[in-house]
Amino acid sequence: MSRQVTATINLEALRHNLQQARDRVSDQTQVVAVIKANGYGHGLLTVAHALYQADMFAVGCLDEAVQLRSAGVQKPILLLEGFEGEEELHAASQLDLQTVVHSKEQWSLLKSTHLKRSLVVWLKVDSGMHRLGFYPQRVDQLLPLMEESSCVDQLVLISHFANADKPDHKMNQQQQELFETSGQQLDIRRSMANSAALLSDNSTHYDFVRPGIMLYGGSPFSQQSADSIGLKPVMTLKAPLIAVKKLQRGDCVGYGSTWCAPEDMSIGVVAIGYGHGYPRSLPTGTPVLIRDQRVPLVGRVSMDMITVDLTEVPDAMVGDRAILWGDGLPIEEIADKADTISYELLCQLTSRVRREEG
Ligand SMILES: *Cc1c(COP(=O)(O)O)cnc(C)c1O
Repeated sequence: MSRQVTATINLEALRHNLQQARDRVSDQTQVVAVIKANGYGHGLLTVAHALYQADMFAVGCLDEAVQLRSAGVQKPILLLEGFEGEEELHAASQLDLQTVVHSKEQWSLLKSTHLKRSLVVWLKVDSGMHRLGFYPQRVDQLLPLMEESSCVDQLVLISHFANADKPDHKMNQQQQELFETSGQQLDIRRSMANSAALLSDNSTHYDFVRPGIMLYGGSPFSQQSADSIGLKPVMTLKAPLIAVKKLQRGDCVGYGSTWCAPEDMSIGVVAIGYGHGYPRSLPTGTPVLIRDQRVPLVGRVSMDMITVDLTEVPDAMVGDRAILWGDGLPIEEIADKADTISYELLCQLTSRVRREEG
């Protein structure tokens, strides 16, 4: 019996979800698969190789792009936060990366550096997120300067929604209008949509869409399940049942003795905990799948173990594998119990969890 916690990565589901993105946009719109943060925790190279039908990849930082190029990935790659310092800029040029330029520091470095190969620059517009980017007025001043710069090969305008997960939020339209006022005089390609915008509003698609969470089978909306929007879960997180034991009424379980047996019963110990990235904040009652049956977590999550109530699965045995999320147990449900979003659960899985392709 393996004590290993595993995350099975369903490559067929990954490709299915990419096709779902593709099916929703026009033929003129390119699909940029967002694979930052180790492919949302699924494994950067695993995801990149499976998503060979994407038009482009987007990553968070140079390091991730270097890994992709070293593994032989030749597709266009976009650095979502651009480069930091001259060395990174040269590396980006050498590796034939495309880069966001979001700050005056990046622009002044770019225009004063001699590059062997000019870059495709995605000029970031701050349309209301107020995180990265230039205000639309400044964008209009910069665009002609950038067009003339010998460091710039092509230009794309990029912006990001703050509330796309709430399609009725009034900020969405405001942001889109501001985005469209930038570079109005020019025939310039644009990109704005993350998964939520891609799924909810075709007018946000422009020339490039940038789906992330939907590729991994996560719903970006709190009120709509992934299944109901045609997405399949990619990761199934599994851990072994390593003990089954009897409790007497009143016996309390785990740290802090926070949960006590209401009657004589049997519980199971599953070898996963916050040391693998299964959140400690998950409360008693959080569902765990054992033998296709939902059983409730009881007591506190420890570093390497959790305890579950086995009343509903009397035939459960040491060696069974429990499912914590994935097939048959939507990650959104678990995220909700932990008061967070699926993105965080996926990204915070630690390196102790073995990723297996399946
Ligand atoms: C992460 C990211 C995305 C993808 O967002 P999802 O909500 O996962 O689809 C798109 N654009 C930018 C700039 C991002 O940082």
